[in-house]
Amino acid sequence: MSLLGLGIDIGGTRIKGICMDEEGRVLAEADAATGNGSCEEEVLGNLFTVIDSLLAAGEVASIGIGCAGPVDPILQIAAVSPNIAFPRDYPLGRVVERRYGIPTLIENDVKAAALGELYFGQGLRVRDFVLVTLGTGIGGAIVHEGKLLRGAGNAAGEIGHLTLERFGPQCGCGKQGCYEALASGTAIRRSFLYALGRGRHSKLASLPTEEINAVRIAEAAREGDRLALEVFEVSAFYTGLALSCLVGLLNPQRIILGGGMSAALDLMWEKIQDTLTLHTMDYPLRQVEVLPSDLGNRAGVLGAAMMSIRTIIGRV
Ligand SMILES: [Zn+2]
Repeated sequence: MSLLGLGIDIGGTRIKGICMDEEGRVLAEADAATGNGSCEEEVLGNLFTVIDSLLAAGEVASIGIGCAGPVDPILQIAAVSPNIAFPRDYPLGRVVERRYGIPTLIENDVKAAALGELYFGQGLRVRDFVLVTLGTGIGGAIVHEGKLLRGAGNAAGEIGHLTLERFGPQCGCGKQGCYEALASGTAIRRSFLYALGRGRHSKLASLPTEEINAVRIAEAAREGDRLALEVFEVSAFYTGLALSCLVGLLNPQRIILGGGMSAALDLMWEKIQDTLTLHTMDYPLRQVEVLPSDLGNRAGVLGAAMMSIRTIIGRV
């Protein structure tokens, strides 16, 4: 009988999991709220609930976990998790391994998603690509010659924290003017609310502030709301600029755009392409193809599961 691997994705709001066989077939899925951002036990309890329900699918021999924030895959430590209630340098891999007696690997969530693209998505048969995840924050991961590019501390690819404006808005990382602070879903909402506060007109102006988010703003933009279109265009400009840096530095064959905000790429596509064309040298520009992920929000769990199967079960 085929041995099975679990793939888990711990995000700021949901914990998602799948059970996969060695051929990459998904046999079961589970998901739960991540839980209280300041209560480690609650997050762990929810993680264990997801794992428990997946274990019923068969003989599980490996667990792979993608976790937001810097992760040390050698020490199996989640270094700092800004949106998840784990203490600094939390030995997440060992905690799970000890509870279940199943070998466990952890990886940064965006790097796990890049593995998902490499094994199952737009990265199949592509040696050099970059995944950029556009959402509440902006993440990135680089695959070079068919492998994750890790850097000295597994932090290579943190595209969201490239400084694109010297005196730009404050970023969650402590710097100013990061790409993420200029273009993420959070940045789109902030710019939109700022403009409303300064008296700009929008069809969303009558809504309570807490009901205004990037999804609502995208809907308004599709209905022709000028302000909503403008904030998406500004975000798209910075994405084009960030991609031009990636193309110049890495000469990738593909750039894959994923994350929740990639559902609004229709609003941003033209501006991204125009900006990329304007700011990139011709030679590497001709070689790169920019395209949306087709794995939706499953890239992370698929990558985490196959990472654990290949590394731990090692038969594929
Ligand atoms: Zn930053």
